[in-house]
Amino acid sequence: MSRAHNFSAGPAALPEPVLRRAQQELLEWGDARASIVELSHRGPEFMQVASEAESDLRNLLSVPDDYGVLFLAGGATTHQALMALNFAAPGQCADYVLTGHWGKTAIRQAGAYVRVNISASGEDDGFRSIPPRESWRLSRDAAYVHITANETIHGVEFRPAWGEPAPDVGEAPLFADFSSSIASEPLDISRYGLVYGGAQKNLGPVGVSIVIVRRDLLERAGQPRADIFSYASHLKSDSMLNTPPTWNWYLAGLVFKWMIEEGGVREFARRSEQKAALLYSTIDGSAGFYRNDVDPAVRSRMNVPFFLADAGLDAAFLAEAREGGLIGLKGHRVLGGMRASLYNALPLEGVRALTDFMQDFGRRHG
Ligand code: PMP
Repeated sequence: MSRAHNFSAGPAALPEPVLRRAQQELLEWGDARASIVELSHRGPEFMQVASEAESDLRNLLSVPDDYGVLFLAGGATTHQALMALNFAAPGQCADYVLTGHWGKTAIRQAGAYVRVNISASGEDDGFRSIPPRESWRLSRDAAYVHITANETIHGVEFRPAWGEPAPDVGEAPLFADFSSSIASEPLDISRYGLVYGGAQKNLGPVGVSIVIVRRDLLERAGQPRADIFSYASHLKSDSMLNTPPTWNWYLAGLVFKWMIEEGGVREFARRSEQKAALLYSTIDGSAGFYRNDVDPAVRSRMNVPFFLADAGLDAAFLAEAREGGLIGLKGHRVLGGMRASLYNALPLEGVRALTDFMQDFGRRHG
């Protein structure tokens, strides 16, 4: 059997050429006579892997020089706590714009270390829209303003049509969770104080996360904490304060090279628009057989939650999809229904196969 089209939300599909190259290099990396995963992180081989990964990511995302890039163990959730510890003074508040499940997680993690002010929330609307910028109640002395650029479960994304992809929040630096949309389109990093995300959607395997942080913010004292929780210490030691997740970092590096070869973030933006448009038009054109409830102005290009009008058909839909080589479509338990994640590694043909299947399933069961 061949590999399926994988719509998983994360861990998610990796580009096949990356997996093949990793397979090819697994036993012996270059002329090291050992696997990259068996070598010291401080040896010349891994140092080369690490620095190429960083410079490739900087190129890919056009990261300005006054920003540091960190490759750290663990997931995005860790950073949701660390950002409060590192950047908020004791007793200071931070503003959160809540647009879905992962914004809630961010608030829960930060809440242990900072006074959280929920400046705006889409919860009353079931997280189907993003509250208009005019309605946000930002604090005057916030340590930072946090948004979730793309809500992986609710399928809500800050889009240019909404106003600005990076909203203007005044004096406080804007911190953004880009876990599920990073590298899917050009990003003006200079509008953010901090951009972070786990790698396991668009960038590589789970187990490593990326933090892009404006260097001057690292001068803030933050709160008493161990070195290992300090971004400044991590940056000073080039993300090697302790043993980094070398295998994950290496694989992410291969994904960066693949993305550059494929044409970079502009090309992935084009493909993402195309893939999302095809899927949403299939849902909207199904005469109610399928449904997506998100405000069209902020529909996510990356994660498309959808529901069958008859939830009794869910199990058959998933079983037949799997039979047809389409996996990872079961919705998150928070929402139920279905979800198709359309990350960079998923080709347009995958979405064509899905929409053909959806139309056929609709005809047979409608
Ligand atoms: N933020 C977003 C937008 C996510 O999608 C996820 C994971 N799906 C997280 C945070 C949590 O990430 P992790 O499991 O890597 O901590």
